[in-house]
Amino acid sequence: AKGLGKGAWQRYQNDLHTQMVQRLEMRSALHEAIEDEQFVLQFQPIVELGDKRITGVEALVRWQHPARGLLGPFHFVEAAEESGAIVGIGSWVLREALRQFAQWRAENPATTLRYVSVNVSARQFRVPDFTDVVRKALEETGARPEWLLLEITESLVLRDADKVLADLKALRAMGVRIAIDDFGTGYSSLSYLRQMPVDVLKLDKSFIDDILHSRQQHALVDAIVTLAHNLDLAVVAEGIEEAGQHAALDVMGCQYGQGYLFAKPLWPTEIPARTAAPEAM
Ligand code: C2E
Ligand code: CA
Ligand code: CA
Ligand code: CA
Repeated sequence: AKGLGKGAWQRYQNDLHTQMVQRLEMRSALHEAIEDEQFVLQFQPIVELGDKRITGVEALVRWQHPARGLLGPFHFVEAAEESGAIVGIGSWVLREALRQFAQWRAENPATTLRYVSVNVSARQFRVPDFTDVVRKALEETGARPEWLLLEITESLVLRDADKVLADLKALRAMGVRIAIDDFGTGYSSLSYLRQMPVDVLKLDKSFIDDILHSRQQHALVDAIVTLAHNLDLAVVAEGIEEAGQHAALDVMGCQYGQGYLFAKPLWPTEIPARTAAPEAM
């Protein structure tokens, strides 16, 4: 704050103070929210691009705030990561997603649903016993490990590489699958991915946005899909909004997609009708 006049310095101090108070308020509100079970899940369908059949859903957390209404992750996930509250929230999300998924499977054994995808933040993954958290959540809900796809980001893999690798291997040994989320926004390369114990690559929306308008972008996505398949990775294209994007990705051989074109994040009650097997429809 060097060179600031007296008034500016005072404002700067006030701003810092306000920020600190806001942060503390947010922190206690998040802890209260965990205790009061103010978090809810929506589920966004992930479809087979060939026939638009819904084979998976991604669990997306929302905060039913007593005063501010329904809040998306944009409003609180970063703060929750900074304060560490994301560890508790994340454990709840994992258990609730598995509980709900096991219920759908039990209610309709012929459901088209094969797996539920759950986001895991770096902070959450780095707690020493994360694999135990997953094991317990599976046991408590009676969900099968094959039903669970954990979404992690590239940055996580770069930090703490040895511990992360060991944990990923342990999870896969249990039968849980791993996805790299937002692929293309981080730093890792496909050659690096070859050494990682992952099963699925989720291509970030920013890659999909321009495939119809940029030949280069189209070529890039085409190449990534081909390389990923050669590395035995399944590919999910994120943020598909236009029928033309769907068609182009299908031609490239990309097998799975997610986006508003197919469905927005839905409430749990909206899922069964859309995932009843064709025979039952
Ligand atoms: P994400 O993991 O990349 O999830 C996809 C986000 O893109 C979701 O936003 C989804 O609603 C949105 N989306 C899906 N299809 C489209 C589309 O066609 N167009 C557009 N414009 N957007 C689309 P949402 O639910 O607001 O979540 C934002 C982010 O918050 C997620 O990004 C994820 O990073 C984080 N998040 C959500 N739930 C959790 C959670 O349980 N734990 C953690 N750690 N992070 C979470
Ligand atoms: Ca995700
Ligand atoms: Ca994503
Ligand atoms: Ca994203």
